[in-house]
Amino acid sequence: MKKVIAHAYVATVDDHNTVYPDGTVVMENGLIQWVGPSKEYERNTNEHDQQYDMRGKLVIPGLVNAHTHNVYYLMRGLGMDLELKSWLKKAIWPGLLRIGKHEAYLGSLLGNLENLRSGVTCVADNYYMPKYKKENIDGVLQAARDVGLRFLMARGFHDFAFNIPEEFVESEDEIRQEYLRLIDVWHDPEHLFQMAISPVNILYNRLETVANIGAIALEHGLPIHTHVAEARFEVEEIRRRHGKTYMELFDQMGLVNTKFHAVHSVFLEEVDMKILAQNGGTAIFNPASNLLLASGVAPIEEMKKHGVHIALGTDAPNNNQDLLESMKLACILPRITHYNPLAMTSKEVLRMATIQGARAMGIADCVGSLEVGKRADITVVNMETLHNSPVHDPVANLVYSANQSDVVAVFIDGEPKVMDGSIVGWDVSDVIRDVGDAVRSLFPA
Ligand SMILES: [Zn+2]
Repeated sequence: MKKVIAHAYVATVDDHNTVYPDGTVVMENGLIQWVGPSKEYERNTNEHDQQYDMRGKLVIPGLVNAHTHNVYYLMRGLGMDLELKSWLKKAIWPGLLRIGKHEAYLGSLLGNLENLRSGVTCVADNYYMPKYKKENIDGVLQAARDVGLRFLMARGFHDFAFNIPEEFVESEDEIRQEYLRLIDVWHDPEHLFQMAISPVNILYNRLETVANIGAIALEHGLPIHTHVAEARFEVEEIRRRHGKTYMELFDQMGLVNTKFHAVHSVFLEEVDMKILAQNGGTAIFNPASNLLLASGVAPIEEMKKHGVHIALGTDAPNNNQDLLESMKLACILPRITHYNPLAMTSKEVLRMATIQGARAMGIADCVGSLEVGKRADITVVNMETLHNSPVHDPVANLVYSANQSDVVAVFIDGEPKVMDGSIVGWDVSDVIRDVGDAVRSLFPA
């Protein structure tokens, strides 16, 4: 079946950042079969089974949210006026301790549907649970599979009780068994539904455990997804304990490669940037979260100078999963560090939110740009709104003017998952009601 998206602005995010002001994208059997100017397509052929006239819309690759915690969104709005440690202690950990498999399913459903509605087709979700509720992770994974987006499950682990409820602390053996079970039951690279190994933050780990569990990632070709240098106290504590930086420790363990995700990287030192750049690892920038928690501004300009790959996430201390909003923040926040308005451009940010995220997950040969032969994961954003008009540069409008409600269509494997601004096959009001009911029983007034 041949489906044609015609007469749109098309930002391909190919190696040359090609943009077609009146472009056409042809999808066939779930793949992108042709991309180019509409006139050229119509001159050669105009055959199709289905045509979407997308005049006034911008077509981009499906967005990649490279870091979030979907289940935390069950605690949306709680502790928003606290700093990181207090937010975890007073809002997130008490919530995570109460959640069972059903609530974990609903949290994941809420988060994945919000991502999808916001134009995201691929999500990296970080979740950990009390050790006596290991089955919660299956609820999270089931919801992601039911929504049907590309997914990276970064199942978190802690094995060192440092300022963390002991319910979250597991033994190395428990952690290993659980990863092997998850890989066996859920890991499905063919459908870009993958597992990642995730020491949540090595503040809460013994290095020996990280090295041993990290070996599972190397053996199975999985990403390692971990919080690195998010707050100043973390960097100081890691140095006090080990006499090294975060990235020196991971490098020493031989775990830094093209699928290594250094989430946040706010307080990276030069040596850390060199290690990331030399090994092709990715720093995952979460500007809304960094602002909200007053963590600091990641050294984006310096990272770029060192050649560090950078992807983009919404994270959970943010209160929404509007990756378009995070794209704007990712573009303007780094400018303030050295008062340099050229620190980041809209084209670079679009790459961070698409191909760079896909690259970090090891799936850039399948998704992340609109190129022939790739899977047809496509997002369509309405430019015909008051706040997006007029359109001189559609990518600039996307980054500086648009928001999640402007997303009108999303395709995954060429199948419509959002159409006319509504999620196909889901009654969102049912989900909102179920989430509300679940949260009322978790947090009785
Ligand atoms: Zn996080």
